[in-house]
Amino acid sequence: MSTAALHQEFARIAGPENVFKDASDLLTYSYDAALLPSQPPGLAVRPTTLEALGQVVRLCNQEGLPLTVRGAGTNLSGGTIPAREGVVVVTTALNRIVEINQEDLYAVVEPGVINARLFAEAQKLGLFYPPDPGSQAVSTLGGNVAENSGGLRGLKYGVTRDYVMGLSFFDTEGQLVKTGSRTVKCATGYNLAGLMVGSEGTLGVFGQIILRLIPPPAASRALLAVFDRVQAASETVAAIIAARITPATLEFLDNFTIRTVEEFSGAGLPTEAAALLLIEVDGHPAQVAEEAQKVQEICRAQGATLVRPAADAAEKERIWTARRAAIPALARLKPSVVLEDATVPRSKVPELVRFINDLAKRYELTIGTFGHAGDGNLHPTIVFDQRDAEQEKRVRQAVEELFDRALALGGTLSGEHGLGLTKTRFLVKEVGKATIAWSRRLKRAMDPKGILNPGKIVGA
Ligand SMILES: Cc1cc2nc3c(=O)[nH]c(=O)nc-3n(C[C@H](O)[C@H](O)[C@H](O)COP(=O)(O)OP(=O)(O)OC[C@H]3O[C@@H](n4cnc5c(N)ncnc54)[C@H](O)[C@@H]3O)c2cc1C
Repeated sequence: MSTAALHQEFARIAGPENVFKDASDLLTYSYDAALLPSQPPGLAVRPTTLEALGQVVRLCNQEGLPLTVRGAGTNLSGGTIPAREGVVVVTTALNRIVEINQEDLYAVVEPGVINARLFAEAQKLGLFYPPDPGSQAVSTLGGNVAENSGGLRGLKYGVTRDYVMGLSFFDTEGQLVKTGSRTVKCATGYNLAGLMVGSEGTLGVFGQIILRLIPPPAASRALLAVFDRVQAASETVAAIIAARITPATLEFLDNFTIRTVEEFSGAGLPTEAAALLLIEVDGHPAQVAEEAQKVQEICRAQGATLVRPAADAAEKERIWTARRAAIPALARLKPSVVLEDATVPRSKVPELVRFINDLAKRYELTIGTFGHAGDGNLHPTIVFDQRDAEQEKRVRQAVEELFDRALALGGTLSGEHGLGLTKTRFLVKEVGKATIAWSRRLKRAMDPKGILNPGKIVGA
């Protein structure tokens, strides 16, 4: 098909106002939140109905056009950087909450619904959708499912995977494949939803998603623990977990991150602290009181210089919001930022923190470390200037050492940001060649022409 005829066909499917081919528009769809060179696609299209989405997928496959789905483009691993001359399919117009079922506790959504919107709509009805990535104000549920995103509440409530009851997705022929159900239990057929969660747009394109909702906790208490030694803070994380307490949130911030976030948000964080833990316990009021007490005792025993409850809900919200701003706050400091999410078993958090500090010294790099320490998921964030080739080389070497260390500690390359383009070359270190070969066979079977988000996860 000629280019003009192809554009016409996309316009027929999605409406001419939803087909973008000007250079300035295409630039918008050429990058995401990863530090990688941008790559404008040949075309971007924004279907407004699921039927049109399926037809777009079918047309791309028919014409052998690489297709990259894009929600909000906030992923940190290059997942939405398109292939040259490829098509970016934007899901922002597929933003309907189809149903929130209050009797059976689930929601049915289109992929472009923003995470915070579902949270808010569920909350109005006395229900709770827990997965809360730092990007929740803008990231889409389709993107969350495709990345298996986690958030501050992941420790107690799990990640996106734990809330996907079912979904439908378009295969490369544009056929709608359905998996899972609206029931609590479902043992019908292969667990294709399990396979699609975290598939980063490489195996199919999500249509509707069925998400589990739960009752919100009756009570909660937020605590701030201040440390004058980083090691004491990280050992406290391990001690709380070892004491069989599962807070809803157990976040770590080092001094560099605290100061940067405070300057950015003015939330009232103690800028002199070597490290800070943000802890929230929730559940039945009696349990909350007991756990909050125990957590405070553990913090003090581990050497916290101050442990105090948030004065009120407003203070908690201010501090938690400031924590969610850690990435943009750090990203303002230098022209380039590499944000990693190496994850280790929780007992190894103190060792990982020590190692990151040592890396910063050895490679003479500025690294702010924060993250979901209760999950063993830290975000060492290196701020630097990519235009300085020598500095960039040191960053690369430091990142490579970081992954090696995380794996040696029994950890994993990614706790939540996925592999995208940025970590494909490291995958073999974690899973071995046979796993990559098997994954590529699976991908070939589902996507024989290799049009679905080529190059991501398992490489070309
Ligand atoms: C400031 C900031 C804070 C962040 N905090 C967190 C955090 O706390 N936890 C966390 O896990 N992540 C976090 N992230 C990363 C990012 O927000 C998540 O990965 C998020 O889920 C991406 O959603 P999105 O809508 O932006 O998806 P996009 O970036 O647009 O896409 C992500 C991937 O999903 C695929 N995809 C999107 N829609 C579909 C679909 N309908 N069908 C098939 N594939 C699809 C894309 O092709 C791509 O591979 C953060 C990012 C930023 C910038």
